[in-house]
Amino acid sequence: MKFQSPTGMHDILGKDMMYFQKIEKVCQDVADFYGFRRIETPILEDTKLFEKGTGFSTDIVQKEMFSLRTKGGDYLTLRPEATPGIVRSYLQKGMENLPKPIKFWHLGPFFRYERPQAGRFREFNQFGFESIGMDKPIIDVQIIQIFFNILKELGFKDLTIEINTIGCPECRSEYKRKLIKYLKSNQSNLCSDCKRRLKENPLRILDCKNEKCQEVIKSAPQMIEHLCKDCHSHFKNVLEFLEELELPYSLNPYLVRGLDYYTRTVFEIFPNLSEKEKESLGQERGKIALAGGGRYDNLVKLLGGKETPACGGAAGVERIIRLMKVMGKKIPTKKQPQVFLAQVGVLSKRRALKIFEDLRENNIKIVEAFYKDSLVEQLKIADKLGIKFVLILGQKEAIDNEIIIRHMDTGKQTIIPFKKIVKHLKKIIK
Ligand code: AMP
Repeated sequence: MKFQSPTGMHDILGKDMMYFQKIEKVCQDVADFYGFRRIETPILEDTKLFEKGTGFSTDIVQKEMFSLRTKGGDYLTLRPEATPGIVRSYLQKGMENLPKPIKFWHLGPFFRYERPQAGRFREFNQFGFESIGMDKPIIDVQIIQIFFNILKELGFKDLTIEINTIGCPECRSEYKRKLIKYLKSNQSNLCSDCKRRLKENPLRILDCKNEKCQEVIKSAPQMIEHLCKDCHSHFKNVLEFLEELELPYSLNPYLVRGLDYYTRTVFEIFPNLSEKEKESLGQERGKIALAGGGRYDNLVKLLGGKETPACGGAAGVERIIRLMKVMGKKIPTKKQPQVFLAQVGVLSKRRALKIFEDLRENNIKIVEAFYKDSLVEQLKIADKLGIKFVLILGQKEAIDNEIIIRHMDTGKQTIIPFKKIVKHLKKIIK
């Protein structure tokens, strides 16, 4: 029997791991600059945390959660998104009493039971940024700016930020009433999913990709015309700051994002691809969101805390890697070691082990093949690796506390005492 990775889940290794590590490094650097600390929450959380936080009526909770019951009878779910877990930690660790905002970033795997397709997996990695405790529009813009900067740093030259506001519970409830009235009068033209959403999550219909639904949506009332004074001024400020920072945004009145907890600003970031890049994407060429997020002013309270405004977002690592490859963005390979340690005979193998550790402690990168006994074979390996200097330790050298240094280019060999190896290598290694 041959085992396969589970459907929609994959290994990360080789080149992909280099892209992954590059993304992690850029995130870490940007996070340090903006003062966000890293947090990693458990992969499993109480199922109710997502039912309540992400929202019972959302697609994630309705259809996409990997849930299980433990032997002890607890109901747990593999995290489908990061925000509820981070807010849970914020409350559990008593961070409510700390000066605000509390700023966190994270990177790790998430799980959604979706139909696997191009750019959509059941296990995927996200990095995200959350700022808890401030209601100012500048925070929304800073979160957007952070994602924009990370993507730019990763080589995305042409991006569009789609932005919208979905108001606060007060103005939204009036808008929802009007929207439902309109949608009900067009109910027969909606897809079956949207018919269900009409009862549970009518805003989500605005975001449906079905052609017939899109026709209905075109003439639907828009949130932006129903904002209360505060939500209007908040959004106006957000747009003004975006302009000030020359961030390329486009208003999308149909952007709602599927989650219940969002309030006011919501955004998504898309790459603008060249025809050639679209061609190389083949089937995946549709609109690809790299990042998305928004304000969630009611989530902390909903999960048992005080009323606390917050804002955040997340980006998909696999999608970013895929596009970096399509854009031809190369990751510089790590510096190859220049020194190889070869040994012949039992005593020299023992001595070589010690020398190897000494060199590691002195930050000299070195390769070995202790599992080989023949010098010819070891030199062949060194040659294949493009090694410049081979340290050769034979029985005689091991007894005399000396080592041979062979310059692979010229074949020239010199003998130096053990004591001088580190100093000598530091001199000749570039
Ligand atoms: P979301 O948490 O749904 O707002 O998603 C934020 C970002 O995560 C998206 O813009 C995607 O880049 C990525 N993402 C979401 N779901 C998936 C998935 N199933 N597979 C791969 N990437 C995903």
